[in-house]
Amino acid sequence: MKIAVVGTGYVGLVSGTCFAETGNHVICVDNNVQKVERLRNGELPIYEPGLEVIFKRNTEDGRLEFTTDLLDAVNRAQIIFLALPTPPGEDGSADLSYVLGVAEELGKIITDYKVIVDKSTVPVGTSEKVTAAVEKHAKVDFDVVSNPEFLREGVAVEDFLKPDRVVIGTSSERAKSLMHELYEPFVRQGNPIYFMDERSAEMTKYAANSYLATRITFMNEIANLCEKVGADVDMVRIGMGSDRRIGKRFLFPGVGYGGSCFPKDVQALGKTAGENDYNFQILKSVMEVNNAQKYVLAHKIKSHFNNDLKGKRIAIWGLAFKPNTDDIREAPAIFIINELLEAGAKVVAFDPEAMENMKAIFGDKVEFIKHRYDALKDADALAIVTEWSVFRTPDFDFMAELMKEKVIFDGRNLYKLEQMKQFGFYYNSIGRNTVE
Ligand code: NAD
Repeated sequence: MKIAVVGTGYVGLVSGTCFAETGNHVICVDNNVQKVERLRNGELPIYEPGLEVIFKRNTEDGRLEFTTDLLDAVNRAQIIFLALPTPPGEDGSADLSYVLGVAEELGKIITDYKVIVDKSTVPVGTSEKVTAAVEKHAKVDFDVVSNPEFLREGVAVEDFLKPDRVVIGTSSERAKSLMHELYEPFVRQGNPIYFMDERSAEMTKYAANSYLATRITFMNEIANLCEKVGADVDMVRIGMGSDRRIGKRFLFPGVGYGGSCFPKDVQALGKTAGENDYNFQILKSVMEVNNAQKYVLAHKIKSHFNNDLKGKRIAIWGLAFKPNTDDIREAPAIFIINELLEAGAKVVAFDPEAMENMKAIFGDKVEFIKHRYDALKDADALAIVTEWSVFRTPDFDFMAELMKEKVIFDGRNLYKLEQMKQFGFYYNSIGRNTVE
């Protein structure tokens, strides 16, 4: 099949590359000239495990192209995916200007039947708006399909190639059969393709993300309470999660959810609720609790040093909003670093992939260190913010040697309390007793 993907970011690039991997011809479009230039030169603009190999294979085989020329890409494609940004607008609702802007362009340029697939996360009712935008100028038949994307950054390629399920919202039989043909290779193990109406598909994505954000937030509150009552949230998590009605995944407490999706999607669903005269109370609490949770680690550090961080050297391990990505959008590290800087600390940071992106925000205000141990030299404390695997089994003796004070604040509960006692660290984590 011939496919155009408009918007070559995390979702567009991964989707486009994976569609090429199953033998389709894919033309990825982006209006960022530099990005397209880099991609054409074989350079990936994002870090995503497993992407490089298939990107290389498919570009070299000529199945995957990159362009800034929307007209040319659309003329050559039968199915056009929109993987455009839907950032929060000023009032918290999803900003549809990118999606609707391109939809209007499409109306002007399509000359034969196309399936226009919305892969961006968009509020209920958007497929009707996209249809209206295309219809303004279109002189030919087209169908608009809602196909929300559930990939997770960090495991995006794996998620895309073997999705738990594919959700497709359409009322057109013609579009349905094309979408079925396109996705069949991805569900060969028997995972389902769910066909539904457009509105339900749009809602499914928001409901899924908001539920996951709620689950994390619930565990963060349990963790905060565990600290107060002397329980250990890791024991509680295991005890809870082995109930099959609950399940083990996504129960890890931490420093609050971040990323480019959960914060904006929870906010946008809340906005949709408000616009429809529905008071979605849980979502309001989720947002409020999460905003507070982002500061928990910084507050612990401040209170340990009697609220005076002047002259203190705080090392940060982990900047990305989660491991295996270089994405720092809404990353808790940003909030934590800001709080520490404001309190007068000297912040030195290490992350395996996200330092360049973080430099663009903090510049010289933060010292970025190439090697994880070097960040610990003369540090008064270490704060662990992202659970990269490389932080899980470090050389604690060496760490103790390097640090000025043997103090760890762990926002991800990477280490065992016993272990920390043994190595003589002060160790303050989330929802567990402090080792002093
Ligand atoms: P992104 O910001 O990484 O990528 C968007 C791309 O669109 C950018 O490269 C930008 O240059 C390009 N673009 C903007 N306007 C354009 C135009 N007029 N023509 C061509 N290209 C244009 O965003 P993303 O993270 O890939 O997210 C895209 C959508 O997918 C959002 O709605 C998001 O909520 C949703 N989503 C994201 C994820 C994720 O993990 N990132 C997962 C599921 C769904």
